[in-house]
Amino acid sequence: MANIHILPEYLANQIAAGEVVQRPESVVKELVENAVDAGATAISVVVRDAGKQLIHVIDNGGGMSKDDLAMSVVRHATSKIKTESDLHAIRTLGFRGEALASIAAVADVEIRTKLQPSAEDDGVSSTGWVLASRPGEPPDIRPIATSVGTQILVRNLFYNVPARRKFLKSDLTEFRHVSETMQRMALSRTDVRFTFHDGDVLVFDVRPSSLLQRIRDVLGINADRALVPVSMVEDGISVSGYVGLPEIARQSRSGQFLFLNGRPITSRPLAHAILTAYEQLLSTGSHPVFVVNIEIDPNKVDVNVHPQKHEVKFDNERAAYLLIQVAVTKALREADVLPAFLGDLPLASKPLQGLATPAAGGITYVNRLTGEIVHSQTSSSPPPTFPPVRSAHGGAVAAALFTPPPKTEQAPVFQAGSQYILTPTADGVMVIDQHAAHERVIYERVMNKHATPAHAEQALLFSVKITRSPSEIVIVREYLAEFQKLGFRLDILDSTTIEIHSVPTDVQPGNEEQVLGKLIDSLQHGGTIPKERRFDHIATMFAAKQAIRRGDRLGTEEMQTLVENLLKCALPHLTPEGKPTFFLLPFDELSSRLT
Ligand code: ADP
Ligand code: MG
Repeated sequence: MANIHILPEYLANQIAAGEVVQRPESVVKELVENAVDAGATAISVVVRDAGKQLIHVIDNGGGMSKDDLAMSVVRHATSKIKTESDLHAIRTLGFRGEALASIAAVADVEIRTKLQPSAEDDGVSSTGWVLASRPGEPPDIRPIATSVGTQILVRNLFYNVPARRKFLKSDLTEFRHVSETMQRMALSRTDVRFTFHDGDVLVFDVRPSSLLQRIRDVLGINADRALVPVSMVEDGISVSGYVGLPEIARQSRSGQFLFLNGRPITSRPLAHAILTAYEQLLSTGSHPVFVVNIEIDPNKVDVNVHPQKHEVKFDNERAAYLLIQVAVTKALREADVLPAFLGDLPLASKPLQGLATPAAGGITYVNRLTGEIVHSQTSSSPPPTFPPVRSAHGGAVAAALFTPPPKTEQAPVFQAGSQYILTPTADGVMVIDQHAAHERVIYERVMNKHATPAHAEQALLFSVKITRSPSEIVIVREYLAEFQKLGFRLDILDSTTIEIHSVPTDVQPGNEEQVLGKLIDSLQHGGTIPKERRFDHIATMFAAKQAIRRGDRLGTEEMQTLVENLLKCALPHLTPEGKPTFFLLPFDELSSRLT
């Protein structure tokens, strides 16, 4: 008696679905790829509950005949390749013939389609067809009145696979994945119109345009001033696209898009090639923004190494690596980015309110990238000349990093290693980590302000509009209440624009966009945070971003103020994240070591 048998098709499909369909995003990706392959010039995507309830994709492509419609949900059925040699030169996004069969194994699927009428046929193909399928049941096909092209509705994803359904993340996270895929697709095909709705809310509607315009529309980047074109061809490999200036680098990889022959791919080595071109232009933990396409003869590329087709192998990866590295380096050099963002600006003629006045003859600088006070020197040499201040918010109420020290006698303070502050106490020597200490001070200030919100914010005389990507706007909307508590009064104007009306008092004028941007970046990758922990989370991140850094040189008064403010804190010895801010080296220990 034989124990081995062929699995029923339904079960085989459900197993195969595990590889192709992992989350709503995978469905969106496969359906949009099919629409692109069908030659659509307009593709509309609607998701409800991040796609868990409904994914609806409409295209105006070639459509399907009744027979093709019936075949489309059969596994290993494809119109895109026929022979082995086709497999070695794939020009379509799909070719495995698995997607629709896999989706139909784990959700209810409805496909409405009508062929593009050709010159010969009169009326025959002017009928549309609808296929309705439930997992495990034979699909049902009937005629229907519909428009040319195809629309697919995928409902109740994974309802028959509870284990999978449970595995899905929060709507916010799943939506972020969907949204990133929509960004990728929209960036890969600028000749196609993409309309994307989250329920009834329009996320974006982008018409055919240049890549630069598309980047602006989809990523919410002000492309003109922040992106540099990249273009180079050599040995049959071409690299083209845009890379972002260091000033728009992000705390995550959310702004990185790589395409191979127009197909979105992930490739660590190629992303690394771009990163290395930036050399020391970026601080650790920040990631450049880029949208780069590589064109290589499809015969030299193998896209069939992964069921989701986003990993690829190609013959001469090393050559591509070097070409990308050289192309991006050249682009950044030509853009002359160095002088544009290095260098510190002298503070405005009126010192910031409440800032400890620099010693006579001293000059205080503010790092114009971060707004941090980075230098306070006592020499009388004239300040170097700087380009004009970019910020136009001259009327913004100035903020204080440090409150002025009282005129009582101060303990001496010393800075060591540009990162520690040493000060004697009655029992020994205190060794303070300047960054960690400042984090604690800012955090407690924010938390206390939270109790008396009237002092939490400073209104901007001129509100500031900033653009961010639609998926980031979704996050801002989610955290609007917490931002408000922190002191950011924000209005979401549309799917890519936020208007800032007020900022927390710690934020330096002109830095509103930067500070908010950093917070959004870290929220994007913070995972799901329970509601009651959210404000604390944002306050912690805000403190980490606003605190003076290790390596910043501090003036005596700045250090004294910091130490004093630290010691006023409720929990002076720990950062908001629970790391130590200082330790005491007791005189006992000093004497035991020195005897
Ligand atoms: P693949 O894309 O790998 O061929 P799929 O399962 O995604 O496999 O689709 C199966 C077939 O169904 C495709 O080869 C194509 O012929 C047809 N098809 C799917 N979606 C569409 C669409 N939006 N418009 C026209 N034909 C489609
Ligand atoms: Mg496909």
